[in-house]
Amino acid sequence: MLRSRYEAVIVGGGHNGLVAAAYLARAGRRVLVLERLGHVGGLAVSARAFPGVDARLSRYSYLVSLLPSKVVADLGLRIALRRRRYASYTPVGGTGLLVDNGDAARTAASFARVTGGDRELEAWRRFYAMTADVAERVAPTLLEPLAGRAAMRDLVGAEAWRDLFERPVGEVVDERFADDTVRGVVLTDALIGTFADPSDPGLLANRCLLYHVIGDGTGDWNVPVGGMGAVSGALADAARAAGAEILTGAEVLAVDPSGEVAFRDADGEHAVTGERILANVPPAVLARLLGGDEPAPEGAQLKVNMVLSRLPRLRDPGVDPSAAFGGTFHINEGRDQLARAYAEAAAGRIPSLPPAEVYCHSLTDPSILGPELRAAGAHTMTLFGLHMPARLFREDPAGSREAALRATLASMNAVLAEPVEDCLLRTPDGAPCLEARTPVDLETEAGLPGGHIFHRDLSWPYGEPGRWGVETGLERVLLCGAGARRGGGVSGIPGHNAAMALLTA
Ligand SMILES: Cc1cc2nc3c(=O)[nH]c(=O)nc-3n(C[C@H](O)[C@H](O)[C@H](O)COP(=O)(O)OP(=O)(O)OC[C@H]3O[C@@H](n4cnc5c(N)ncnc54)[C@H](O)[C@@H]3O)c2cc1C
Repeated sequence: MLRSRYEAVIVGGGHNGLVAAAYLARAGRRVLVLERLGHVGGLAVSARAFPGVDARLSRYSYLVSLLPSKVVADLGLRIALRRRRYASYTPVGGTGLLVDNGDAARTAASFARVTGGDRELEAWRRFYAMTADVAERVAPTLLEPLAGRAAMRDLVGAEAWRDLFERPVGEVVDERFADDTVRGVVLTDALIGTFADPSDPGLLANRCLLYHVIGDGTGDWNVPVGGMGAVSGALADAARAAGAEILTGAEVLAVDPSGEVAFRDADGEHAVTGERILANVPPAVLARLLGGDEPAPEGAQLKVNMVLSRLPRLRDPGVDPSAAFGGTFHINEGRDQLARAYAEAAAGRIPSLPPAEVYCHSLTDPSILGPELRAAGAHTMTLFGLHMPARLFREDPAGSREAALRATLASMNAVLAEPVEDCLLRTPDGAPCLEARTPVDLETEAGLPGGHIFHRDLSWPYGEPGRWGVETGLERVLLCGAGARRGGGVSGIPGHNAAMALLTA
């Protein structure tokens, strides 16, 4: 039985809404979560995407970096995040650049082979020593009230402030590195889910890079054991165990600044009142629920989920495919290739050689595959394509999705020794195990305005001192999702911060 009044009504049951619910319920607050879909988790879910195939794929997000250990400990979450042995592999002609977390000598030899000396490796070590230092300093602040700009500058020090917060990352990478492949590998972290020119003085790519290197004080991107659904499942369990009520199949229709929330479920339309409303939905959706309007942001990725009957063969005989696909496998993501793809997409064309990256979750965590698939040597493969802005897919969503997919697979095949299509597992009725999602698909299917994976462009992790970065200008309404300051990604940070804003008010 629903009550008519709650201390907090949370609009949306994505992982951040669940984090907020868990913290608030543990503090003794009466909390109701209203989720439109029949399940919680939002963009952090697992799905059996192919009928008759026993593989639980992380359908949207797939790696975890930004979720603080403190949140895991505070909420007693039973989740395991596994470090990947290999950070990345980038094919270059008949060889490739392997970054092996477990073998520094092998990494050094790979740099020497691909870049012709040790200068690039030295530059790489210096750059990532700088980001590691920033990670250690900045990550703990993400769960505290905002620091001001000057305090953040003092915290990170002069060099990191200049190279990460002030100068366009494209300029910094060009200055620090000479090799096109190495430059590209560094730049991809600045472009994930972000349609930007890294040389742009607006520094959008810098903000994206920052959140990709500071997660939990290390910047490591880890594999959630059991898939993303296991993370959201653990959060939902924690919230329910603490007493939060979670209603799925409940679509919020309107939010009133006074605290009234109108929603519809299978039984009809209802209203509840919250002393506070926490919006897990993107800011553009919140604006609509409040009766206003806010332009949609623009997402820029092609996501492809696959199940393979076996790993594809590589051109490089020196690297085992299980090493190459165990980390992030970069496809045509050299600095110049990234720049060309950006220019083509900005001019309204699908990039001729789309940059993309893939990785195989099942190499680090086979538990997402059923025993038969595991025994047969099957693997999941996730592809994240860059520079595929929503504008390319508006006019002809299905036709342009097909064209983008074709171009992306061709781009991938150009760096493999055999076409990936030959390795796709088939469902019992013969269909290849492959699904592709454009930003426009995400808008339709997941209700994401513009298909923007971070709800809106990422913002700097500093602001008005003392605020939590979740404020909306309306006293009773807070953001608790990715669109808050310091939100974006699977982090729980804005969920935590919205709960703290409420509890410390
Ligand atoms: C393809 C893709 C790949 C990604 N990869 C990664 C990755 O590997 N690692 C990473 O850290 N991040 C990744 N991200 C980003 C990350 O998934 C998101 O930023 C994050 O999950 C957002 O979480 P959230 O809880 O803030 O919002 P969401 O997960 O978007 O949850 C919002 C919830 O609100 C619900 N909702 C919407 N409207 C209403 C309404 N009217 N009434 C009720 N409920 C409503 C939605 O159904 C949803 O459940 C990826 C995202 C995508 C799309």
